[in-house]
Amino acid sequence: MKFSELGLSQNILDSITTHGYVEATPIQEKTIPLTLSGKDVIGQAQTGTGKTAAFGLPILENIDLDNKNIQAVIVSPTRELAIQTADELKKLGQDKRVDVQVVFGGADIRRQIQNLKSHPQILVGTPGRLLDHINRKTVKIDHVKTLVLDEADEMLNMGFLDDIESIIKNTPAERQTLLFSATMPPAIKRIGVKFMTNPEHIQIEAKELTTDLVDQYFVRMRENEKFDTMTRILDVQAPKLAIVFGRTKRRVEELSRGLEARGYRAAGLHGDLTQQMRSRVLAQFKSHEINILVATDVAARGLDVKDVSHVYNFDIPQDPESYVHRIGRTGRAGAAGVSVTFVAPNEMDYLRAVEDLTKKRMTALQPASLQDARIGKIKNATSEVHKIVKTTDISEIQSEVDKLINQYSSEQLAGALLASVADLEKQNTPVEITRERPLPRRRNGNGSRNGGGRGGDRRSNGGGYRGGNRGNHSGRERRGNSERRFGDYKRRDGRSTDRRSSSNTGASRQKREFTVREKD
Ligand code: ADP
Ligand code: MG
Repeated sequence: MKFSELGLSQNILDSITTHGYVEATPIQEKTIPLTLSGKDVIGQAQTGTGKTAAFGLPILENIDLDNKNIQAVIVSPTRELAIQTADELKKLGQDKRVDVQVVFGGADIRRQIQNLKSHPQILVGTPGRLLDHINRKTVKIDHVKTLVLDEADEMLNMGFLDDIESIIKNTPAERQTLLFSATMPPAIKRIGVKFMTNPEHIQIEAKELTTDLVDQYFVRMRENEKFDTMTRILDVQAPKLAIVFGRTKRRVEELSRGLEARGYRAAGLHGDLTQQMRSRVLAQFKSHEINILVATDVAARGLDVKDVSHVYNFDIPQDPESYVHRIGRTGRAGAAGVSVTFVAPNEMDYLRAVEDLTKKRMTALQPASLQDARIGKIKNATSEVHKIVKTTDISEIQSEVDKLINQYSSEQLAGALLASVADLEKQNTPVEITRERPLPRRRNGNGSRNGGGRGGDRRSNGGGYRGGNRGNHSGRERRGNSERRFGDYKRRDGRSTDRRSSSNTGASRQKREFTVREKD
């Protein structure tokens, strides 16, 4: 469907055209008219299908430029996503001249306060920093017409729920509320609906939750073989841009260092890094300066990086929804992708849970042999050599070049160049990855699976779901945020999120068992 049939004004349509969008995606087609009419909407569609514009366009349409108040607030789980969303809205609101500002933790608040003086009509932000501004009275959201929770299931998890509630309290009761995500577990949806008025739930019935454009593989192997197996597969598959997911921040650190030590251009992204570092890493990845980004689930939620060709799940995610979001980093906007998930034998039940959710079987992939990996590395090095030859200016080094030519055959020189670029020795650099406690057995954790149907229980006692993995992730992200910590953050019972993530104490394992997807 054309955007012009959706009831948008010409200046918005002009920006859409400039932006290069021709046809509306299904989620845009279904939700834009509803949102324009003022209804509360839950929008659920595969990752990478344009949910940002789906909520963004009607918001932009309804902005009154003569009104100096903040008219729409979009809450995002990470700073990177907040920035990305603000950028998209700025572009789409360019011709209408809508002022969009973004606030997030870890950045100078005074500068943000300065920027806010321009009276933006739309504000995008992470929960902690938004609240901080609200409490300082540098942001007033009492005239907000529309509130969006992007990645709503993440936002309504324990890690963020209190902040979200506080933010909502500062908005008018008659506001429009929009929830968007690719996944919406029923228990979470029930929490969300409490903040809404007669919401319409639009779910794009993609036959599968994950796109057909992504070939999904799994490799079954022992935990201590994972790293070597992964690097060999990396050599064979030679991804243009890859995201490697690790379960904890420690994992992400170790994996990125290990990959670097073996000669890959890799860097880590997680919530304990400074904002400056996070921005740098993401910029390096987007400019292909590095081609492997190692990330935690939350750090990569919603990120839209062009040309991500491969996703590697070094650790299988604990809850199947995370899998959907992870592999949604590739196969975006019609592009193709590959995903490989590494699974220890005792984690096979988690693999099945993912397959149950995505309704798709993953294909077993044979681990590559050392020989395959070497061949792969040489092949990659050969294309690198072509590039080097094309871009090298030998005029300045002519005399040394002449000496080498007189001394060696071209075969020797080419061989040496290739070997040096391939740097095969690095392939053998020993890398230690600290062992993580394996995930609790799903079967034994039956309380969780069966308990799934009792979403109501879960909500009332809260702790099970809330204290679990997802909240854990958010908490982990947040810890690094240096965002204001309010008293109730301590509600995490002093269980340091780090401790919980890197060592499974009995208690945390208990909790974790509640995080598996419920079935109702
Ligand atoms: P989601 O939030 O559903 O994961 P995004 O909003 O991040 O997806 O959009 C994914 C990509 O698709 C972005 O690069 C966005 O610019 C692009 N996109 C969005 N809508 C359209 C459209 N109608 N036509 C073409 N590309 C689009
Ligand atoms: Mg999105």
